[in-house]
Amino acid sequence: MPTVVMVGGGQLARMTHQAAIALGQSLRVLAASPDESAAQVARDVVLGRHDDLDALRKAASGSTVLTFDHEHVPPQHLETLISEGVNVQPPPAALIHAQDKLIMRRRLEAIGAPVPPFAEVQSVADAEKFAETHGYPFVLKATRGGYDGKGVWIVDNAAELEKLVTESLAAGTTLLAEEKVNMRRELSAMVARSPLGQGATWPVVETVQRNGVCAVVMAPAPALADSTAAQAQQLALRIAETLGVTGCLAVELFETEDGRILVNELAMRPHNSGHWTMDGAVTSQFEQHIRATLDYPLGDTSPTAPVTVMANILGADNPPTMSMDERVHHLCARMPEAKVHLYGKGERPGRKLGHVNVRGTGTGSHHDAEYVHQVREKAEMAAHWLIHAVWTDGWDPHSGH
Ligand code: ADP
Repeated sequence: MPTVVMVGGGQLARMTHQAAIALGQSLRVLAASPDESAAQVARDVVLGRHDDLDALRKAASGSTVLTFDHEHVPPQHLETLISEGVNVQPPPAALIHAQDKLIMRRRLEAIGAPVPPFAEVQSVADAEKFAETHGYPFVLKATRGGYDGKGVWIVDNAAELEKLVTESLAAGTTLLAEEKVNMRRELSAMVARSPLGQGATWPVVETVQRNGVCAVVMAPAPALADSTAAQAQQLALRIAETLGVTGCLAVELFETEDGRILVNELAMRPHNSGHWTMDGAVTSQFEQHIRATLDYPLGDTSPTAPVTVMANILGADNPPTMSMDERVHHLCARMPEAKVHLYGKGERPGRKLGHVNVRGTGTGSHHDAEYVHQVREKAEMAAHWLIHAVWTDGWDPHSGH
């Protein structure tokens, strides 16, 4: 059996390991510590950092393919591994577009993909020039290293501009400025591509962020025009092919108030916007990532329910005294249809601890607002319960109503 190595021991590696098991494999994980999500459950764990070449070499030794659960491995290390015969998927020439937002913006613009107006910012004057043309508020972003909204700032006026740009540049953070998009909502188009060039797309989904963190995903995106969905899927496939992406690619999109789509950013790995596929599609993103990086034929991406909603379990500011085990127990009793995925992490405010998937039953459609609402409410209620040990509808587990 092949050995797939994943750099990074977080929940994405943990769930990829689950999929590897079903294929008769066992994921090898490069984790920074034995208590990381994936290191808790995989047998084949190499302990070390993702930016340590020797640790990467050790993890890659004897592997069939090396892939990632995050995008932070230095490209020069990957080039070294390739020169030593390691099969790296996605290759560093593609991955750079998920590592550096300025390189990504420039490349997408060059291939004619729709992106918000942007500019590189190397000085306060650069940012002032951008503000003169595009006005306030605008968005300032760290070109590298951001995640979950860290490294993204809304700039409202000249004083803020000067402070943010001066401090960031002094700290060595490279920057870009971007128009603040007047958006209706955020979407994600998830595709997979194999080295041979086979592509597959899941339905386009809507992602709901709270405090810069993904909270809810609705699949397919409610009431999205079929033509816009097809356009987003074709765009994602074209980006995957043009950039030479292999494995999963999530194309995060803005749907503007006037109905256009713009690319926000790219992730070349399983992604939070694809967690619904574990229970709502014939092939999950985790299985597909393994198949795609190994150059197997890809799996069927058809949805298995009219609508599936994923709600993240994000650590509460004040975690309840009831144990997580007891919370899960109660959820099982009240909502047998809810599928719980926990990542084995300790509770900390805002931390992604797991997610719940709920599939819509019977006949329904993502164009039916009431049907979507019912599935979403159930998923959000389940996640809220697991986070706070409180039922939002006041349900009492002891009386049963
Ligand atoms: P991260 O790498 O931290 O995920 P993103 O570039 O995806 O950063 O931005 C995080 C969030 O900030 C987005 O999901 C969106 O809600 C908001 N955002 C980012 N860029 C813009 C923009 N140009 N206009 C409006 N909102 C934006």
